Amino acid sequence: MNQTDDRKEILEFNKLQKKLRRNVGNAIKDYNMIEEGDVVMACISGGKDSFAMLDILLNLQKAAPIKFEVIAVNLDQKQPGFPEHILPEYFETLGIPYYIVDKDTYSVVREKVPEGKTTCGLCSRLRRGTLYSFAEKIGATKLALGHHMDDIVETMFLNMFHGSRLKAMPPKLRSDDGRNVVIRPLTYCREKDLIKYAEHKNFPIIPCNLCGSQENLQRQNIKAMLIEWDKKTPGRVDSIFKSLQNVSPSQLADTNLFDFENLPIDREADRDEYQFSEATVSSTNIDESLFIDVTNI
Ligand code: SF4
Repeated sequence: MNQTDDRKEILEFNKLQKKLRRNVGNAIKDYNMIEEGDVVMACISGGKDSFAMLDILLNLQKAAPIKFEVIAVNLDQKQPGFPEHILPEYFETLGIPYYIVDKDTYSVVREKVPEGKTTCGLCSRLRRGTLYSFAEKIGATKLALGHHMDDIVETMFLNMFHGSRLKAMPPKLRSDDGRNVVIRPLTYCREKDLIKYAEHKNFPIIPCNLCGSQENLQRQNIKAMLIEWDKKTPGRVDSIFKSLQNVSPSQLADTNLFDFENLPIDREADRDEYQFSEATVSSTNIDESLFIDVTNI
């Protein structure tokens, strides 16, 4: 690689880094994810996303006008072959507070889930439970997870296709018992950007297939579908995500979200701008065909 290529690569990386930091900063601001005095427990699995999240949070911590702590936590689930030394060594080089929590959820999952069945459901429930209690133990006020925009959109389609529910992953979530708050600072970040970022930063990534689980096939199918859509129509995943921020309950069909049962007529209310009325007929030049359509409704 010559000097011009080097310079170009550095410039592109700086641009990407700026974009990711801006996205994280905006998500934190929009959802009030981090407040003065927060103790943020950054859950680090060893995958590219959690490494990127930690890296960006530490940078923001230096620049932010508020003071908050970041503590890295890895849950060692005792999968065979898990390289235990990698994360402690990495955290040491960063000079940040960290914990490695040992909990053999791997054996529990192996014992409870019949051969050939998907293990991820029970595994993630056990992981979540352990992390929630650990957060309380160390006084963490927020739990930061490395899910990004593509994860959120994939989850929405998974729930729609396989669970008949319109439900994704929120940027901020209070646990069911109200004892913890989860935040997802990478909510506005795209996976393709995080892949490039991780490559450039050379994070010591730990492979995620150590548990021997079959890849979650349904998620992989949805991922492939979204990649295809995004290739054909760039920006489609961003648009789908934005739709999650712009929901109209009265235009859906959930009777719990909107009171379809009680829609009383109010003839005293102001008319809609385009609604047919004698006043609009006399004052505007309405096309004859439109007039016929309207009166026939
Ligand atoms: S892939 Fe393995 S470690 Fe990850 S959630 Fe599924 S069972 Fe657990």
